[in-house]
Amino acid sequence: MSKTYNLAIIGGGAAGMIAAPFAIQLGASVAFVEKDRIGGDCTWTGCVPSKTLLKAAKVAHQMRTAGRYGLPPVDPTVDLKSVMSHVHSVIEAIYQPTAPEELRHKGMDVFLGEPQFLDSHTLAIGEMTLTAQNIIICTGAHPVIPPISGLDGVSYLTYLNIWNLEVMPRQLVVIGAGPIGCEMAQAFRRLGAGVTLLEAGDRLLPNDDASASPVLAKVFTDEGIDLLFNAHLERAWQDGDSIHLMAGDKEIVCDALLVAVGRRPNVEGLGLEKAGVNYTEHGVQVDDHLRTSQSHIYAAGDCTGGYQFSHYAGWQGFLAVRNALLPGAAKGVTDQVPWTTFTDPEVAHVGMTEQQARQKFGAEVLTYEWPMARVDRALNEGETSGFLKLVYQKNGTLLGVTIIAAQAGEMIGEWVIALKYGFDVDRLSRVIHVYPTYSMASVQAAVDIQMGRLLSGIKGRVIRKLAHVTR
Ligand code: NAD
Repeated sequence: MSKTYNLAIIGGGAAGMIAAPFAIQLGASVAFVEKDRIGGDCTWTGCVPSKTLLKAAKVAHQMRTAGRYGLPPVDPTVDLKSVMSHVHSVIEAIYQPTAPEELRHKGMDVFLGEPQFLDSHTLAIGEMTLTAQNIIICTGAHPVIPPISGLDGVSYLTYLNIWNLEVMPRQLVVIGAGPIGCEMAQAFRRLGAGVTLLEAGDRLLPNDDASASPVLAKVFTDEGIDLLFNAHLERAWQDGDSIHLMAGDKEIVCDALLVAVGRRPNVEGLGLEKAGVNYTEHGVQVDDHLRTSQSHIYAAGDCTGGYQFSHYAGWQGFLAVRNALLPGAAKGVTDQVPWTTFTDPEVAHVGMTEQQARQKFGAEVLTYEWPMARVDRALNEGETSGFLKLVYQKNGTLLGVTIIAAQAGEMIGEWVIALKYGFDVDRLSRVIHVYPTYSMASVQAAVDIQMGRLLSGIKGRVIRKLAHVTR
C-alpha cells in the first residue's frame, strides 16, 4: 500500500537538500527521492571537487612561485592520484552529514531509486509507489555535448568523470571557456599538465563583464595556458592514446579532452507528461513562484533552466517549500544572482554588466574601476591582478558590480546586499571597513566616486570655500 506524504521532493542535489530539511522543520511529512547519490553535482562532480582541486593547484603554484616572497621556489612533482584521493576525501566529508541514514534520522523518508510520475500525485520508484499532496522537482542538469563530427568515438571527459583521472595528462585540451573550462584549465596547468583552452567566442567567461576577460587571459597566458578564441571545431578522432581535433586547418593533439560547453536540464525519463507538467529541453516551466503547470507541483534549481548555481538552487528549493506549504507566495525567480568563478584571481559578479547596463540606460551609465594594485592588502600578498568595477547611474544608483581579485568571491557579498536593498554609492562610502582587507577596495571606490561628486561644480566650490573659512 502506498503512503501519502505532505511533500515529495524529487532530486537530492543543491535545491532538494535545502528543501527537505526546511519542510521537516515546518512539520510536513516528507518523501525524499534520489536516483543516484544524495548531494548531486555540487557535492560529487561540481563545486566541492573543483574548489578542492583548485586549492591543491594554488598550493603547487605558490610553491613554484615562492621566489616572489623571498622564499626558495620548489617545483613540486605532482601525483594526480594522490591529489584526487584528497579531493575524494573532501567530497566524503561534505557528503556524510547528508547520507540517507542521517536524513532518515532527521525525520524524512529517503527513497533511493529512479522515480516516475504515474499521475500528478503518484510516483513509482521501482516496485513501490507513494503519493504526495505537493511535489517539488529538483532534478538538476547534465553536460551538453557539442555536435562535433567524430566526438562520440573519442574518450572525452566532462565535469562528471574528470575526477577519476589518476595520471596527469601531458596535454589537456579544454573545450569551452565558461566557468568550468576556466577553472579546470588553470587547475590542471598549475598541477603540471600542458593545457590548451578552446573557445568558440572571442573571450573568456562570456557571461561576465567583458573587462574581466583580458585580465584573466593575461594571467592564463603568463601561466602557460594556450588560448584559442573563435575556435570552430569541426572534427575529432582518436588514435591510440592521442586525441586529434581539427579547428579550421589547425590540428590539435592531446592525450585528454575536457568538454565544458554548458549544461542542460534533466527533464527526460520522469514521466512529466503523465503528471501534466509542461517542460521543454530548456527546463521545467515555472512561474515566478516556482509553480509548474500543475498548481501543487513546483520545480527548483538547474532543472528549471535558469541560472545554474548551487546557491541559487538552494534559495529556490527553500522558496518552493515556502510556497508549497505556507499561505501566500514569495517570488522565487530573480536576476540579482551573484556568482564567482574560482580561478585565481577569482571573478565575481552581481547585477548588470556594463554592456547590459548600456543597453538598458544608454549614456546614463557610468563606470568606475578601482585597481587591486591600489589595495594595500593585495600588495601585502602579491595578489594585485584585477579590479573592482562599479556600474551605476549618474544619480548614484548602483546597477552592477564585477570584481576580479584574489578574494573576489568573499568581497561580492556586501555588493549583493547593496543591490538588493537599493543602497546607492553615497551610502556605501560611509561604511567603515577593516584595514587592511581586500574589501577596502569597495569603500575606496565608493569614497572616490562620492568625493568626485561632492567636490565638483558649484557645490564643490562652496564646500572648498567653507573649508577655507573655517581654517
Ligand atoms: P557555460 O555555458 O557557462 O560556458 C560554455 C562555454 O563554451 C561558452 O563560453 C561557449 O561559448 C563555449 N562553447 C560552446 N560550444 C563550444 C564549442 N563547440 N567549441 C568551443 N567552445 C564552445 O558552461 P560551463 O562552463 O560548462 O558551465 C555550466 C554551468 O555551470 C554554467 O551555468 C555555469 O555558470 C555553472 N558553473 C558555475 C561555476 C561557478 O559559479 N564557479 C562553476 C562551474 C559551473
